[in-house]
Amino acid sequence: MHRPGRHFLQIPGPTNVPDRVLRAIDAPTIDHRGPDFAKLGHEVLEGMRWVFGTESPVVIYPASGTGAWEAAIVNTLSPGDKVIASETGHFATLWREMAERLGLDVVWLEGDWRHGASPERIADALDDDVRAVMVVHNETSTGVTSRIADVRAALGDHPALLLVDTISSLGSIDYRHDEWGVDVTVGGSQKGLMLPAGLSFNAVSQKALDASRDAKLPRSYWDWKPIIAANEAGFWPYTSATNLLYGLREALTMLREEGLEHVFARHARHASATRAAVHGWGLEVLAVDERELSGALTAVLLDGSDEVRRVILERYDMSLGAGLGKLKDKVFRIGHLGDFNDLMLAGTLAGVQMGLQVAGHDVGDGLTPALEVLKG
Ligand SMILES: *Cc1c(COP(=O)(O)O)cnc(C)c1O
Repeated sequence: MHRPGRHFLQIPGPTNVPDRVLRAIDAPTIDHRGPDFAKLGHEVLEGMRWVFGTESPVVIYPASGTGAWEAAIVNTLSPGDKVIASETGHFATLWREMAERLGLDVVWLEGDWRHGASPERIADALDDDVRAVMVVHNETSTGVTSRIADVRAALGDHPALLLVDTISSLGSIDYRHDEWGVDVTVGGSQKGLMLPAGLSFNAVSQKALDASRDAKLPRSYWDWKPIIAANEAGFWPYTSATNLLYGLREALTMLREEGLEHVFARHARHASATRAAVHGWGLEVLAVDERELSGALTAVLLDGSDEVRRVILERYDMSLGAGLGKLKDKVFRIGHLGDFNDLMLAGTLAGVQMGLQVAGHDVGDGLTPALEVLKG
């Protein structure tokens, strides 16, 4: 059945793909070994170094973010290596499970899914055998952002590699691969970068490149070496995802036009307006530490949240994020990242407020306080 107007896709990824990006993707495919392709290749590689804040190589995979997770591990580590991972939520848990399946010995710092990775606890868990520390920057299941610069500082001069997942923060929350001393940063296309799913990234430090020479985990498709070698000339060793790269080039142009600082400030402002709405409704945000509030999404505590999401989809044609893992039916998540503006947020929050009321929740007025923030 036709539903008039635009669907509101307010899950925290995939996000709304802007018309400019859709139009850029809608172009004839070119020969991925031909002379025109190299220009595209160089442009997107250079643009991705800019977004990550790095002078080092960025590897682009035609894969969802999960592929780049695996690439970060298999390129840098060996079977039985000890790594530290922090339980920030569902995505940290999935990455840990992957690390264990790949044969790593994971020291798991348990958490309550309301806090980010603790620099102090990571420092306490470090010993001579630890080869890497894995942290999810923006935990998409909870709306909590870990303080990566503080985690790096906690490592001091310990030689462990720092592996960071920025799949839902890249292009929406401040991130600096080189300045913060991160060794492998994992990114994905379908969240802050405003593309469909299908591209993912590793930004790679010199230290990580050095580690990859001795790393013994089996790898073939994910191996950085042949990809970085082919990238020198602007190509890939296999068929490129050419049309997604057209989209990536356009998305990077849009981020440059707006300016990354403005992009981050816009996200922080929308997050702040969303929290004002949550408080107005008399509900609670899952994130508790002021320093860890996510600019990309807000998770709201509500028993029976699945029914509210069902009502909102049916009545208002809007998708909200579900509670994942142990938060199932206990939270809903409002995505406010990617190609998004004040009135889209106002519409989103109006839909949430109406949906809560229609579903029988006696909530206060959250919309007015949110609009006040947007006026400011
Ligand atoms: C979405 C997401 C993933 C998974 O990425 P896919 O593209 O679904 O494979 C991993 N980590 C975080 C933080 C995410 O938000």
